[in-house]
Amino acid sequence: MKVGVLALQGGFRPHVEALSALGADNLEVRLPRDLAQADALVLPGGESTTVSRLLQTSELVDPLRERLATGMPVLGTCAGLILLASEVLDGRPDQVPLGAIDLTVRRNAHGRQNESFEAALEITGLSGGPFPGVFIRVPGIERLGQGVEVLACLSSGEPVAARQGRVTVCAFHPELAGDLRFHQHFLSSL
Ligand code: GLN
Repeated sequence: MKVGVLALQGGFRPHVEALSALGADNLEVRLPRDLAQADALVLPGGESTTVSRLLQTSELVDPLRERLATGMPVLGTCAGLILLASEVLDGRPDQVPLGAIDLTVRRNAHGRQNESFEAALEITGLSGGPFPGVFIRVPGIERLGQGVEVLACLSSGEPVAARQGRVTVCAFHPELAGDLRFHQHFLSSL
């Protein structure tokens, strides 16, 4: 199993480091030929509008849609969640939703005053106590489709991690948590 990490913009390096620390074979994905070598993919945090544009100029949109449609396991964190969603609110008009998970997400839902925070999270499938959730310019999940399972919520009840089939998304940054359990869990599901 080779795990690709989309490396067009944003925080891809900590994901590469987390996967390497767990002994997972991985590669940075910038071109369709890189994607063709990956058995699974991580879409990191960053700026979803920029990544969306770079996906188009790198001619990755169609190959990525095709791999998602044929069941490639994928983990999207923060901007990665926004990219994988079926509906994006407060996005840019030219932002293309990949539509891999049936949910509506609002960019920067927590506003500018409270752009970043940490929260201890109980995550379905993770043992060993709460997971340190690191939230940066947090997207808000505002609607979940019927087939989508919630994996973690804030104490307010707002969902911050979800899964549908082989697509897992989270609004926080597990790659910055100093805790490899979230990545470990993704790897063990492959
Ligand atoms: N607000 C960013 C976006 O719209 C996501 C923030 C992040 O990935 N930390 O893409």
